[in-house]
Amino acid sequence: MPGLIVFPFAQRPVGRDSRARLPVRPLAPRVAPAAVRVPDPRQVHVEIPFPAGHPQIFVHEGARQLLERKLTVAAGKPVFLSINDNCRSMIAFAERDGIVRARLHHMFLDAPKAVQLALVCYIAKGDREASCVVGRYIERNSHRIRAARPFLLPITTQGAHHDILSIFSALNDKYFGGTVDALITWGRLGSRRNSEGTGRRSIKLGSYSAVERLIRIHPTLDRLWVPRYFVSYVVYHEMLHHVIPAVEQRGGRRILHPPHFMEREALFRDYERALAWERAHMHRVLRARG
Ligand SMILES: [Zn+2]
Repeated sequence: MPGLIVFPFAQRPVGRDSRARLPVRPLAPRVAPAAVRVPDPRQVHVEIPFPAGHPQIFVHEGARQLLERKLTVAAGKPVFLSINDNCRSMIAFAERDGIVRARLHHMFLDAPKAVQLALVCYIAKGDREASCVVGRYIERNSHRIRAARPFLLPITTQGAHHDILSIFSALNDKYFGGTVDALITWGRLGSRRNSEGTGRRSIKLGSYSAVERLIRIHPTLDRLWVPRYFVSYVVYHEMLHHVIPAVEQRGGRRILHPPHFMEREALFRDYERALAWERAHMHRVLRARG
């Protein structure tokens, strides 16, 4: 039966933390080894003993202490640092009774040295230039900020002919070291931020919403005559959007598919085959769309 409902974040087998065995290879996306996101317990379909509440992160205590020490030295007074998984406030700090309490998003734990230095400068001295460096880093890492907007249930991955969750999981293992923690569902494309424009027709078949961390695949692809490798290609493309943020150019123009993106896309095993299938059958897909 089409339309089987599963709960989001049941995106891969629970209890197998593939991040723990992340291979070092060029295909692996930028991830946060100092902080690992734990699935929202409300969204895991297997009973596991998570406390109720928000999604959590496991923070590398050594990395936290190191940053706390840097802050203490720069500020010349005690700094208590806590790490969070906030979706809005990335940096917060206040001084009271000679003690600075700082709360930072986990993306800063494994930030490059220069960014950490700027962060320390900003928190300890309120340096304006440093705040720009920090701001740019946050922008570049926006994909690591969890969804601010709750997505609408249900999430549907089992179609009549294609199971996009199994496709997603296979791609995740093969190309991303199992690190992509976006969600996926069959669904028509809304006018979401980051959804595709009108440039490439095939791309409308999928979309990625950064605020929801959600990949949508158009149900028109759930047909017997649409080969699995083509559906895989569309899913792979959207997964790339999750790991490669759009590039902001001067003047505010956003490049959704920067050269680095295109290179990664061409690494898809059936890339040429998928493009050829698209050329030969796109008219049929478009006609069938309903
Ligand atoms: Zn795209």
